[in-house]
Amino acid sequence: MSQIFAITNQKGGVGKTTTAINLPSSLVAMKRKVLVVDLDPQGNATMGSGVDKNDLMLSAYDVLTGKCNCQEAIVKTEQAGFDLLPANGDLTAAEVELLNMPSKEHRLQKALSEVSSQYDYIFIDCPPSLNMLTVNALTAAQSTFIPMQCEYYALEGLAALLETIAQIQQVVNPQLQIGGILRTMYDPRNTLTNDVSDQLKAHFGDKLYAAVIPRNVRLAEAPSYGVPVLHYDKTSRGTVAYLALAGEFIRRNEGDKADVSIAKEHQ
Ligand code: ADP
Ligand code: MG
Repeated sequence: MSQIFAITNQKGGVGKTTTAINLPSSLVAMKRKVLVVDLDPQGNATMGSGVDKNDLMLSAYDVLTGKCNCQEAIVKTEQAGFDLLPANGDLTAAEVELLNMPSKEHRLQKALSEVSSQYDYIFIDCPPSLNMLTVNALTAAQSTFIPMQCEYYALEGLAALLETIAQIQQVVNPQLQIGGILRTMYDPRNTLTNDVSDQLKAHFGDKLYAAVIPRNVRLAEAPSYGVPVLHYDKTSRGTVAYLALAGEFIRRNEGDKADVSIAKEHQ
């Protein structure tokens, strides 16, 4: 069975989608089988994985609203190496349609249970809001994975997110854990970054990942070529950072002795 992570933070622009593409592709380079679920109507994770959101026969919308099963809508990405349940603007309609459906919070969970035996990890890229889509993601997941930019307002947004997680735990998913906090667009020369970083350490202890993601222009450029940074610029700081993150991620989830070597074709 796979472990399911919801990549979530109600703040936009903190690196959720960048992480939803680059952590999975780095895990694939380390020979893990991964599914990425795009649950944001903007379809950025879809486009960034090299799949055109305007050309989808079936998408997360069809799966959530019961028009097809999960397997039918999953596509293989060409270069990124993971499988993708893609999304586009149709998902906006699902937000509303779900409200009148039976077991509306559990629809993604049910859909993913059909395919989860095929993967080591499943990542769900959440929209930057708390709506029925995010509730479905947090119900389907065992853990949240939270990218955070170390800036002044970061902690304020985090309080809201922790409140949401507590509510989900109470109502639909008592098992839900915080699977990790990731510092993104990290700049150690900035005093504020260090202050926020210290506070995160104090608050979250070992849930805070040691690996950090620096600001790196290659990470911002890669999506326009429809590839993860690993396939765009192998030696960039962004590539190195996401590979280091994947190594730490595997050791945390599979134990210190797990194999984190990189497959030959990615070296
Ligand atoms: P979210 O999904 O949380 O809204 P994104 O991953 O889409 O955030 O990131 C927001 C913007 O910042 C995007 O244009 C992305 O390319 C850019 N970005 C994300 N992470 C980095 C980084 N580490 N360095 C430089 N640019 C980044
Ligand atoms: Mg996003």
